[in-house]
Amino acid sequence: MDELLQVANATHDNDGTVKLQFITSDGGSFESSSFYVGRHLNICCSTQIGCVNKCLHCASREVPFLRNLTSEELIQQIAFLSDKRNETFDILFLGMGDPFVNFQNVFAAYTYFCKEGATQIEDVLLCTSGMSNNRAVLQLLSHEPQRPNIVFSVHAVPDTLRQKIIPHTLLYNLDSMKKDILFYTAKTDDYVFVNYTPLLNINDKPEQLKDFALWCRDIHNCIVRIIPFNTWQGTALSPASNRTIEDLIDLCKDYGVRADVRPSYGTAINAGCGQLRGDKVRREQRNEM
Ligand code: SF4
Repeated sequence: MDELLQVANATHDNDGTVKLQFITSDGGSFESSSFYVGRHLNICCSTQIGCVNKCLHCASREVPFLRNLTSEELIQQIAFLSDKRNETFDILFLGMGDPFVNFQNVFAAYTYFCKEGATQIEDVLLCTSGMSNNRAVLQLLSHEPQRPNIVFSVHAVPDTLRQKIIPHTLLYNLDSMKKDILFYTAKTDDYVFVNYTPLLNINDKPEQLKDFALWCRDIHNCIVRIIPFNTWQGTALSPASNRTIEDLIDLCKDYGVRADVRPSYGTAINAGCGQLRGDKVRREQRNEM
């Protein structure tokens, strides 16, 4: 395979996280990372250059959308991030971009790794903030003998509040998302993850947490993952308190929903969840100096 990507920059965090900044052959720029959970390698792969979804709490919203990454670029990106390490790893399609928007290429890369990397890949995670093609994608995946784990970013209930955090969900509401999740879990009996990032004075009020826990209660095979907000330059948002996170876990338990907190990795080098960006932002920052 030709070299489609160049590594323009590599940054290392003391916790073992490595962030790579890639340049594509047409001059696009994006970042992705690898990190260890205990001794297990995780590769957080970007699927688009920029992101059309513009979620309020995510630094990728600042990067103008250029295009989807091709399946070959996805495969090369993962090869760079795994750095020929002779160990098993998970692939998380959680970096810049919504993998459901670029599903054709993501699925081609996924299928490639299921065949070629079968002995090295342990788990694959696909994350979506909710797109109108969700049902078609879930239908296709439900027929796969080897299925990835699916993560749904919810972040707020009801729709009016959620649209402030994930604006494009105006076209794909919570009812549609729940119907699609129930369709998938009924067909596969797989567990699905539902994400919530509590933000100070946005979605952290007790009644808002309760609405979310109640929404999850109807989904039998659901695990709530609380993702603490990782700050980035230019955002006015702040993380909700630790007490809020504990309250949300307790509320979920009260309603019979499993919930845990996903620790952050690589935040000192801006490689944590929601912190990845691209070169254009860097250039703008340099010009300001
Ligand atoms: S959270 Fe995901 S979908 Fe939302 S802007 Fe960031 S990369 Fe895009």
